[in-house]
Amino acid sequence: MRLFKHPPFRPCICVAAMEKGLIAVDRWGEASQAYFLTHLHADHTRGLFPGWAKGPLFCSPVTARLLPSRFPGFELSLLRVLDVGVPRPLTLDSPTSGTSVSIRVTAIDACHCPGAVMYLFQGDLGCVLYTGDFRWEPTDKRAWVGKKALLSALGGDEVDVLHLDNTFCNPCFEFHPREVAAQQVVDIIKSHPDHDIVICIDTLGKEELLVQVSDSLNTKVWVWPERLQTMDLLGYDRVFTTKSRVTRVRAIPRYSFTVETLIALNTLRPTVGILPSGLPWEPNSFQKDPSLDLAGENTSINSGRGQKETQVPKKCHQYIFSVPYSSHSCYSEIREFIKLVRPSKVRGIVFSSFCYINPRHFFGSLCTSYQPSGQPSTDLGKNRTADGVRETQTVYAVACELPRRERCMKGRATRMGWLGVRRSWTSPLRRQRRGVKISEEADHG
Ligand SMILES: [Zn+2]
Repeated sequence: MRLFKHPPFRPCICVAAMEKGLIAVDRWGEASQAYFLTHLHADHTRGLFPGWAKGPLFCSPVTARLLPSRFPGFELSLLRVLDVGVPRPLTLDSPTSGTSVSIRVTAIDACHCPGAVMYLFQGDLGCVLYTGDFRWEPTDKRAWVGKKALLSALGGDEVDVLHLDNTFCNPCFEFHPREVAAQQVVDIIKSHPDHDIVICIDTLGKEELLVQVSDSLNTKVWVWPERLQTMDLLGYDRVFTTKSRVTRVRAIPRYSFTVETLIALNTLRPTVGILPSGLPWEPNSFQKDPSLDLAGENTSINSGRGQKETQVPKKCHQYIFSVPYSSHSCYSEIREFIKLVRPSKVRGIVFSSFCYINPRHFFGSLCTSYQPSGQPSTDLGKNRTADGVRETQTVYAVACELPRRERCMKGRATRMGWLGVRRSWTSPLRRQRRGVKISEEADHG
């Protein structure tokens, strides 16, 4: 979930082992011979539009099914559907030498949102793994299948460059598996039997959370018409409805989920808002609510010394609960992933995270190119990708000085603060442009 003013910057994959102009992943502006879409969240499709026709677009079968509804009129003959786990050979032409380049690409289930895949590129130009957004939970069978497919596709190859989803690349981010977090959402709903419930979701993702809510409460979940169309395409039609009278549980779009909305709804009926997100809360960063009793609610369940802290649900406003339901891997999951892949180099794909730390800071020693220098992370602040983009390191300077939880919050408070900072800039806009979407950039979390 991107709850900061500036959208995340994602560098082109054409770095290191790949020659520029051959392959672009989630980048749609540059000239390239083959384009790869990891998934349909807005921050990965920026620059893609119905009339886009720069070249062949590779994606998973589910993404291919959903894409026409996102981009009506898109030239479908451009789509190249990759079956997950099945290597596809490609022959491209080197823009510099003019010689033929043989590449093999394999899509691997990223377990992030419907259709999301990683891409493994192997061949004449080396071995590159681009994760896109992903969450591989240790207990998830789908992640286990993905892991097996990845190792099989690698076949002993060493990954030269790992482009990593570093959204939560910080030890302060530890999440329960999504199934556990979904049960926490169910528990909150059950503890408010006389309330209407609104759950914040995006245009894609968190379907399994809503299905678990529906099954546990034996009720349908309301969604808006466009979202119902997506649900139908995904085969979830039995769970969802657009008839508000048949259910007290509604899933609403992010741009509608505001403090103002919850206050307004509560003038009509008692209503509780639930924000499923990996993003932590900073209770002091928004207006203090005297009715809020956070005692005991903001403590982590594993707060003992030396134990990792796992985020728990929090009541962050009189009418709002935050539940740490994340579609991105948490720190320990990222660590296990890197230990599995053992890349030569690792690079983050998110460059303006509120709590950004270069993945090399924590995981550089897990890379095969690691050379201990005695000076930790001496390249911090000096890193440039091959396309000349300087990697942001500003938050790291803060991170060195503060205790773990505090430094996460410090970075967040200065860069985002959803119901605090963001509220202050969305409200005037909303007053001027009532009902206008403020940001479609934000996704997941
Ligand atoms: Zn995403």
